[in-house]
Amino acid sequence: MKIIVASKNAHKVRELRELIDIDGIELVSLADMGFDGEIEEDGSTFEENAYIKAKTVCDRYSVPSIADDSGLCVDKLGGAPGIYSARYASCDGHNSSDTENVKKLLLELSGVPSEERTARFMCAMSCVFPDGRKISVVGSCEGRITDEIRGNGGFGYDPVFFYEPFGKTFGEVSEEEKNSVSHRYNAVKLLKEELLKAI
Ligand code: IMP
Repeated sequence: MKIIVASKNAHKVRELRELIDIDGIELVSLADMGFDGEIEEDGSTFEENAYIKAKTVCDRYSVPSIADDSGLCVDKLGGAPGIYSARYASCDGHNSSDTENVKKLLLELSGVPSEERTARFMCAMSCVFPDGRKISVVGSCEGRITDEIRGNGGFGYDPVFFYEPFGKTFGEVSEEEKNSVSHRYNAVKLLKEELLKAI
């Protein structure tokens, strides 16, 4: 069975291929399908956005489709930046740079003590089938926001996301270490279990 990964991010597609290694399932990318349009993500939760993306691509090609949506939720900020993680520091609704987003986050949390800086990365994944079936899973990873940037690895909020079991931020660990515990990894694991039941 062919499944389209509804993402333009080649790295994500490659990672998913490695993780969802199921006999009989071939993951293809949007690029493989020749898709170069935009999909409006106007949901109000990670789950809704993942579903919107997967459903749009599934409807277009009548082929099962997988999509994800992820971000950082900080307790002290009522769950922000949440679904707005990529454009947290933006004034015009477009994505802002990782540096600007991290700077804004540290500013919003200035003076907040370490024990109140709890946060989690969240990743929702959705798989939609042409016959109407859908799979929806959510993975998360708990941590704490540091008060300064530590490390220059990873992307996004990684350099300020302190992961207690490692005693380091995600910016200070290797990609392999992060990927073995990340919200995305946890979501993919759940998705794989559900896919195995569905096919
Ligand atoms: P996306 O849904 O995977 O494109 O993620 C949206 C935004 O959430 C990214 O632009 C990052 O700001 C943030 N984010 C998601 N996953 C991670 C992660 O693993 N590390 C750091 N930031 C992340």
